[in-house]
Formats: sequence, C-alpha cells, structure tokens
Amino acid sequence: MSGYVITPPPVASLPVIGTDARFPVRRIYCVGRNYLAHVREMNEGADERDPPFFFQKPADSIVHDGGVSPYPTLTKSLHHEVELVVAISKGGAFIPKAQALDHVFGYGVGVDLTRRDLQTVAKDKGWPWEMGKSFDHSAPLSAIAPASVVGHDETRKIRLTINGKERQSSTVAHMTWSTPEIISKLSEHYRLEAGDIIMTGTPEGVGAVNIGDVIEAQVEGLPTLTFTITEPLKP
Ligand code: MN
Repeated sequence: MSGYVITPPPVASLPVIGTDARFPVRRIYCVGRNYLAHVREMNEGADERDPPFFFQKPADSIVHDGGVSPYPTLTKSLHHEVELVVAISKGGAFIPKAQALDHVFGYGVGVDLTRRDLQTVAKDKGWPWEMGKSFDHSAPLSAIAPASVVGHDETRKIRLTINGKERQSSTVAHMTWSTPEIISKLSEHYRLEAGDIIMTGTPEGVGAVNIGDVIEAQVEGLPTLTFTITEPLKP
C-alpha cells in the first residue's frame, strides 16, 4: 500500500499572464494597517511608526477572476479591501530590504474580503482575527503579471468599483510599508517560500458588499479582477 488514504486536495494556483503555466500557491499572507488613511477611517489610533503585523488566509479560499464569492455565514457586514498582491518565487528568512525584490515573481490585485462584524468582536475581545478574515472564498485574486514584464513600480494607482461605482481609489505609493519592507519584515516572522502570496493592505474607502454586487479591482498596469457576490451556499 502507498499513497494517501483519501484523495489529496488540489494544489491552489493562479494564472500567469503570457503563459499557460500557473503560479502554485503555498500560503497567503496579509498585512494589516498599511495605509494611514485607512487606519484613520477605522479609528484605530495606531500610527505609521507601529511595525506591520500579519495574518493569513488559507490557499483554498482563493476566488479566481470571473468567479463568485458566496455571501459567507455568520456575518451581516461583509467588507471589501482592495490590495496589491505580491507573488514570491524564491524563499528566505531575514531577507534584507535591499535584496527583497529579488524574491518577487510578479504582481496582481486581490480583495481581502472581511467579516467586519466578526473582526470587530475579535478586536474588542483580544481574539485572533481568523474568523473575520480567513473564511471560505475570502481571497479573490487576479492573474499574476511577471515582474520581468511589468517591473517593480511602487507608484501604481489602486482602485475598486462595485457595480461600476468607485469605492476605493488611491496609489500604492501611500503604503506605510513598501513591498521590500513588507517582505523583509514578514521574513523575520516566517521563512518565506516560493509560492507564497502577500496581500499588502488596503487604502481608505472600505465598505459593505451585498449579494448580486459585481466587484472590479485593479492596480494600474496589472491584470484586473472581477467577481460577483452570490447567494449563500446551502448547507
Ligand atoms: Mn486587508
């Protein structure tokens, strides 16, 4: 006898622009509080000198471009957070900031879907954020554009629309911690590996989404992401 006692789950992956080969996803890391205007709108009192902090979403929570995210259970306040996405192609720990971009395969855009009411309870009670952040279908992600094609531009515009109406609009230049700084800091907490995805935090303008909403997310010069919020899944 060999192999597995049950069928192993599929490897999560994202399409890559310009090739049929896909980017396999190991972990999805997310950065909290990375745009000062968003920190202010959340009344969090943190300031820009606070070190970045991180949480994760499961790789099997990915929703692909053109896909659907069923409205999740146990929330009345599902929020959108548009974020620049970084795909890691080379592992490392304690990666120096100056070498951090050597570890980047490419970039995309994602939406950090959040059960805001559950996150708020967690914050109040000092609980982990998991139930607010790491649920099924909570990580809509675009295709990845290789950095060899699109470069490492840190001044791209970032925006999100719902049913064609603009809800978030900023530039990734407003990130408190830049992509190299995030990679460097994150790699102090966890050894990064090829296949890791980093969602780099959201600018201001977060708000609720509803069943039937069509959400479009874009970071300038990168593949777009469109997905729809659908009826909750039947038990
Ligand atoms: Mn976020």
